[in-house]
Amino acid sequence: MERWKTIIEPFRIHSVEPIRLTSVEERERALEAAGWNLFNLHSADVIVDLLTDSGTGSMSSEQWAGIQRGDESYAGSPSWFRFLAAVQHLFPFRHVIPTHQGRAAEKILFSVIAGPGKAIPNNTHFDTTRANVEFTGAEAVDLVIAEGREPATIHPFKGNMDLDALDAFIRERGAASVPAVFVTVTNNSGGGQPVSLENLRGVRAICDRHGLPLFLDACRFAENAWFIHEREAGYSRIAIPEIVREMASLADGMTMSAKKDGLANIGGWLAVDDDGLAERCRNLLILTEGFPTYGGLAGRDLEAIAQGLSEVVQEDYLHYRIRSTAYLGEALDRAGVPVVKPIGGHAVYIDARSLLPHIPPLAYPGQALVVALYREGGIRGCEIGTVMFGRHPDGSETSAAMDLVRLAIPRRTYTQSHIDYVIEVVRWVAERAGDLRGLRMTEEPPQLRHFTARFQPL
Ligand SMILES: *Cc1c(COP(=O)(O)O)cnc(C)c1O
Repeated sequence: MERWKTIIEPFRIHSVEPIRLTSVEERERALEAAGWNLFNLHSADVIVDLLTDSGTGSMSSEQWAGIQRGDESYAGSPSWFRFLAAVQHLFPFRHVIPTHQGRAAEKILFSVIAGPGKAIPNNTHFDTTRANVEFTGAEAVDLVIAEGREPATIHPFKGNMDLDALDAFIRERGAASVPAVFVTVTNNSGGGQPVSLENLRGVRAICDRHGLPLFLDACRFAENAWFIHEREAGYSRIAIPEIVREMASLADGMTMSAKKDGLANIGGWLAVDDDGLAERCRNLLILTEGFPTYGGLAGRDLEAIAQGLSEVVQEDYLHYRIRSTAYLGEALDRAGVPVVKPIGGHAVYIDARSLLPHIPPLAYPGQALVVALYREGGIRGCEIGTVMFGRHPDGSETSAAMDLVRLAIPRRTYTQSHIDYVIEVVRWVAERAGDLRGLRMTEEPPQLRHFTARFQPL
């Protein structure tokens, strides 16, 4: 097939879900009712939904078959053993603790290891990870390399940890107040950028020097492994599962959302090697999620994840996945829309601060852009900027490091013509960027405000 340039979807469509085409007037009414927060929309009023790639992908016929096979025994179900084998095939940690999604794994782990006076370094904390760290009273510290904070700078592994900064941070704080080091693969909030194995080995060496455990926030491990396969010297002939196992071999544990590279609609897990830590986590699991052989999941969900894990590491799938995301990003880049480069694995990130220099960060340029994309074309993206990260535990508000708009691509869900439509709408809005106005926040909750805040246009 290699002589053809077109990367086709390596699947055909097996069942379809209709999309209702709305008018600008309908969408203006929907925006007003939603308080200009796209999380408050009815998704039936969205034409192309790029809010998130989390749990929104299509499952395969084999995954649906697994749903039928799901065994709902309370304890020791065969579905659990299939799930456990599939997880340990890629991540051979001693203990696997199933949860209803990634944040439940985070909540359990940080309840056990974090707390006031503690600090968790990460390349970049994802929003729920940061919130779960801070909820215990600990500090969430982002130490991504400098290139990772510059949207326009090209670097093959922009998600890498700044190793000198990590070492200096641990020395300064003292290892006793750093219960674990995290690395997020790929770095979602930093633009879906990958982390190299070389960098992971560097983090491992620093953790060893200070006697600290290393955890992967592994939600997009397969996409990260594909980038290693494509970009890191010595890995182009190594099979994806083997690259994943090498990533795992450098860590002491992981948190995972199966809604991403589990190719499932729900699920997650926490995995650790340490027996004592596993026991403390399981005790919390029983309190908040369920018995250790199902956690927060039905047997059928465990089956869908087990099958998803075998599909997500297939090269045809990953090639299509990464190329189709790049197809959107490269088209926007050619049209002069400022995007985070190189294009990440699961999403294209538009640099709203640079597209809308007349809107100051505290008037939320990212929010202004997501509202405009919805109003004009019914496209739902997600602000990743000052709305999401601007409010601090002490109550102060500052601008986030970047004001990005993420167009996340659900897995195996939209075709190239949907994406061509998105390109057309984004270009139209970008050509009229000077007409956009900022917003004022009128209501916000104490944590994770972006989910439920309400706005008024300025
Ligand atoms: C989605 C995600 C999480 C949280 O997982 P949920 O299943 O949404 O709770 C944590 N970290 C990263 C990097 C993510 O992308």
